[in-house]
Amino acid sequence: MPGRGTIKSTQQSDSRGWLHRLGAAARAALTVLYPWRCLNCAICLPADHAFCLKCQGWIQVIHSPLCTRCGRPFASRVGPDHICSQCAQQPPSFRHARAWAAYSTPSGSPQPLRQSILRFKYERNMRAGKALAGLTAHHFSLAQEQSAGQAADYDLVIPVPLHLTRLRWRGFNQSLILARAIGLRINTPVDPWLLSRTRPTSPQTKLSREDRRANVRGAFQVNTPALAKGQRLLLVDDVYTSGATVEECARTLYQNGARSVDVFTAARVVDL
Ligand SMILES: [Zn+2]
Ligand SMILES: [Zn+2]
Repeated sequence: MPGRGTIKSTQQSDSRGWLHRLGAAARAALTVLYPWRCLNCAICLPADHAFCLKCQGWIQVIHSPLCTRCGRPFASRVGPDHICSQCAQQPPSFRHARAWAAYSTPSGSPQPLRQSILRFKYERNMRAGKALAGLTAHHFSLAQEQSAGQAADYDLVIPVPLHLTRLRWRGFNQSLILARAIGLRINTPVDPWLLSRTRPTSPQTKLSREDRRANVRGAFQVNTPALAKGQRLLLVDDVYTSGATVEECARTLYQNGARSVDVFTAARVVDL
């Protein structure tokens, strides 16, 4: 499990942005005028840091032992990865899904990751989006490194698409921003047009597991099947809740000839 130092060093290494092309004096002046603040508690931070150490400590990074298919972490913290009972009964279409961190922490504790994702998606806070994208890409790389020489190669990174009505309301697809950061990190093209959502779907949050599957059934289409055929695809979304959305995306991609579909999300709902 990467410690605070790992996250901190990555945030620092990600800081080769426009701010760092300015001179030191200009940077210092800008930092005084527009200080970087923790996305959760708003205390001032060094430039390009997303969370203060205290809030960072509340984020529960997901790590082994977990389900080899859906990435669900197990309550027991010992033993090897293995398939969970749910995936054994009903195997998902995708090869495997992994996530950076738990979407929610135990009730009553601060929720830095969930709050940041909500600010990104519903308050259109692009600083939160940029920070989350950088951290998601960093943790995707870590997961690849920790796969003990079995890191997958991908031909394309595919964001889970929004329906046009939702895209127009929000103004951006949060999954595309995460996908672009990962694509840049692994030097793999991102195709936001390969998969589209053909009808608006109800928010999944208040639906039962079966209703979620029915809600997204047939909701996606591959626009150019020739571009999916034989391709090794990495599907990216912001939150893995029941897995119904990425399952339906993966099913649609396989129906159109994809060679493999893996999933990575910034956060995952963990029901321990
Ligand atoms: Zn904080
Ligand atoms: Zn599973």
